[in-house]
Amino acid sequence: MSEPLIYELGGPGHQGAELPPLDVPDAEEAAGGELPGLPEGLLRKSPPLLPEVTEPEVVRHYTRLSEMNYAIDNGFYPLGSCTMKYNPKRNDAMAALPGFRDLHPLTPEAGAQGALELMARLEAALAEITGMARFSLQPVAGAQGEFTGLSIVRAYHESRGEERTRVIVPDSAHGTNPASAAMAGYQVVEVRSDARGGIDVEDLDRVLGPDVAALMLTNPNTLGLFDERTLEIARRVHEAGALLYYDGANLNAILGLARPGDMGFDIVHLNLHKTFSGPHGGGGPGSGPVGVAAGLERFLPRPLVVKEGDRYRLEWGDPDGLDRPAPESVGKVQAFWGNFAVAVRAYAYVLTLGAEGLRRVAETSVLNANYLMRRLARTFELPYDRPCMHEFVLSGERLKKETGVRVLDVAKRLLDYGLHPGSVYFPLIVEEALMIEPTETESLATLDAYAEALEAIAREAREEPQKLREAPFTTPVRRLDEVAAARRPVLRWSPAGERRA
Ligand SMILES: *Cc1c(COP(=O)(O)O)cnc(C)c1O
Repeated sequence: MSEPLIYELGGPGHQGAELPPLDVPDAEEAAGGELPGLPEGLLRKSPPLLPEVTEPEVVRHYTRLSEMNYAIDNGFYPLGSCTMKYNPKRNDAMAALPGFRDLHPLTPEAGAQGALELMARLEAALAEITGMARFSLQPVAGAQGEFTGLSIVRAYHESRGEERTRVIVPDSAHGTNPASAAMAGYQVVEVRSDARGGIDVEDLDRVLGPDVAALMLTNPNTLGLFDERTLEIARRVHEAGALLYYDGANLNAILGLARPGDMGFDIVHLNLHKTFSGPHGGGGPGSGPVGVAAGLERFLPRPLVVKEGDRYRLEWGDPDGLDRPAPESVGKVQAFWGNFAVAVRAYAYVLTLGAEGLRRVAETSVLNANYLMRRLARTFELPYDRPCMHEFVLSGERLKKETGVRVLDVAKRLLDYGLHPGSVYFPLIVEEALMIEPTETESLATLDAYAEALEAIAREAREEPQKLREAPFTTPVRRLDEVAAARRPVLRWSPAGERRA
C-alpha cells in the first residue's frame, strides 16, 4: 500500500493535515509487484519532486500572470494589420457545444454530419462574401493560406504546361507575402507604390512578363488604402497570363460592400482569426481558408465537404474512389479538418451579424479609422493624405527630428498609459511608421481617450524627451534587448531565468 496522501491546507508554514488514504490502485501492485517491460535502471528510486503548493497559491500565481498579459478583453488593442477586434463570448459558447467539442477527428462521416454541415455552410458564406467559387478550410494561418494559394498557382501553370518562376509583391506588402512566395519556390520581385499609395502601374509593366506566375495584392493595402486602379491592374496581370492573388487577412473594410471576385482576383485567403472575430495573438489558434474562382476548384486541397441528397461527406476527388487527393489537387495541407473550433466561431459570427450586420462592420470600422486618423493628423504626419479604409499609417518623422523621440519610444510610453500601441516601423515604406487599426468594436469614448494619450505623449516628447526614451516604467518588464532576444533566445525554463525576469 502506498503512503497516505498529505494535503497542505494553508499557505507556507501551515501544518499539513492528514487525510484518510485515498483508494487509488497502486500501478506496481496492480501489475503484481513488477511493471512489465520497464528496465530496472529506468525505474524511479524516489518520488518525483513536485512543487509543494496550495490551491490558493496556484490560483494566485496564474491570476497574477494573466494580469500581466494585455488582451482585447482588458483594453483597446489597435495593432495595425492585425484586426484585434472584440471576440464575442457567444462564439466560444458555440465552439464549446459538446457535439462539436467532443467530436473525435477520426469520427466516421455518418457520426459527424453536423460538423460537416457547418463546414459546408461556412464555406458557402465565405464564397458569397468574397465572390469566389469554392473554399478549403484546411489552412490554419494566413501564411499557410498564402502558401496553399501559391501552390495552387503553381499547379495551375503546370496544368497548362507552363513554367513560371516569379511572383510580384508590392513594397507595402505584409512580410508573409514574400516569405510564402519564396517557400513555394518562387523568385520574389518587388513592385513600387505610387504617390497615392497604390501600385505604381508603370513599375508593374516593367516587372510583368511571361515568367510571372502571380501578383499578390492586399486591397485595401497595408497603408490602409484601397487601390484605385485595381481593375486596371487585374487586366494587365491577366493579359500577361498570370494569376491575381488576394491577401484577405483583413477583410474588415469591404465586408458586404465589395468582393475580391468582382475585382478580378483568382485566389483569396482570409484570416478567420482576424476579420471573423476568432481570438488570436496569443489568445487562440488561427484559420486561413483559401478560396478560388471558378475553373480553379480542382487544384484546391482535398478533401472538400460535399452534399449529396441530405447527407454530407468528405470528397477526395480520387478517380479510383480511394481516400486520396485528386491528381491535380495540391494535396492535403493540414491534419484532419484544420482548426475546426475556429470555423465554428466564424460561422457563429456570420450567423449572428447576417448580411446587414457584416456590412455595418465594414462601415463602422472605416468610420472609426477615419475619425481617429483625422484627429491624430494634427499631432503626427499623414504620409498619404486621403480617406483610409479600416486602418491608417501615421509617421513620427517630424517628432523625431524636433525632439529625438522615436515612434518606438512613443509606443513604449503608451504602455504606461495602460494602452496597447499600434504597429510600428511597418509598412517599411513609411519612415517612423505608426499603424493604427481601431476596428468597429470600439466606442467614440475609447477612440478619444487613445487620441488624448498620444497627444499627451507628443507634449511629453517636447518637455521631457529623456523620460520617453526610458519608458515604459509601469510594466512587468521594461525595454527588452531585442537583438539579444533574437540572437541568444532562452528556450528553457530555469529557476535562475525566472528570477532574472
Ligand atoms: C496577419 C496577416 C497575414 C498573416 O496571417 P497569419 O495568420 O499571422 O499567418 C498576412 N497578410 C496580412 C495583410 C496580415 O495582416
